[in-house]
Amino acid sequence: MAVMNHAPTKLNVELKLFCPRRGCPYPQSLDNKITKDGVYTTKNGGVFRQMFYCGTREHRFSETGYCDLFGKHGSFKEYEQLCKLSGYGLSVDAIADVLLKDPRTIAVWQRGVSKKASVFHNVMCLSITLTVLFIQMDELWSFLRNKNSQLWVFVGFEVDSRFWMNFELGSRTTHTATKRVTRINHYLGKLSRINPLKVTTDKLAAYKNALQSVFAEIDYVYLQIVKKRIKIRLVTVKKCFVKGTEDDFKGKTQNTSYIERFTLTLRQRVSYLQIKTVGYCKKKANFTDALWLNLYDYNYRCHHKSLRLPLTVPSVSRFQKKWTHRTPAMAMGLTQDALTWIFLFVMPILVTR
Ligand SMILES: [Zn+2]
Repeated sequence: MAVMNHAPTKLNVELKLFCPRRGCPYPQSLDNKITKDGVYTTKNGGVFRQMFYCGTREHRFSETGYCDLFGKHGSFKEYEQLCKLSGYGLSVDAIADVLLKDPRTIAVWQRGVSKKASVFHNVMCLSITLTVLFIQMDELWSFLRNKNSQLWVFVGFEVDSRFWMNFELGSRTTHTATKRVTRINHYLGKLSRINPLKVTTDKLAAYKNALQSVFAEIDYVYLQIVKKRIKIRLVTVKKCFVKGTEDDFKGKTQNTSYIERFTLTLRQRVSYLQIKTVGYCKKKANFTDALWLNLYDYNYRCHHKSLRLPLTVPSVSRFQKKWTHRTPAMAMGLTQDALTWIFLFVMPILVTR
């Protein structure tokens, strides 16, 4: 990992510096000689920004050039505040009010961060073969403008690391489910594993079809949890082993509880998913942006309480540190430490414009 100004943390993937300037002949060439060339601050932000020097074309560029926020007239602090407020379930209008900006400006910033977050997530998941043992999948109901046009959010989640693998927006059909499962399949690589991959979902038939067509060459076992409700009261829970037997699902794996708790977190954190409010989605692109921001926040930035590991040092005083905290990405082996928002902004990854 190249040493950067705002990089106190480490990735398990090596990223090389490159020149992000449009028209530069060697944008991705690795022998492109990039050197550090001083720092600067902007008039509305106290955070230092790194300047680099591009040796082939003899010009300077700012680390902000690595993301779509370049020339968007905000400070790093404001960008960071936008991301955090968005993660607390605030709408674009509310954030605009807090930061004293125009809602359109906030939407543009959010688009910039979301693009970078999606590219980053893909680069990470495709560079390292993920250790996936147990996937749970679910879909969240939502709608676009009015309740007649339904919009479902399909989410996939690796249980042991609590890693949110990806999401897909669309209708509640096999088509959307297949798109999502195909993406998961890309992340898995071609490793043969000793234990079959465990998959649990609810009773939606779309998953069965999607798994059958996409996971044809993968050894997997599949369990459907069929819940029957009368009005809202849960009456029965039936386990339906579609592929594999009860012996394949040992311990606390015969459920969809983890993903259900996770979808609750999402409803809390994405303003468009809060039901019985007027905060519903009016534009699909904004919905995608909010989800990507949350994916970065959840996977790479926030510690997950259930992933903490006890420290083996014998305790001397009661103020001594007892745990090492981990993010889902750390548990998955993608990063060494929790990342920050600024780290995402200046990371040298090409975002196609
Ligand atoms: Zn250049």
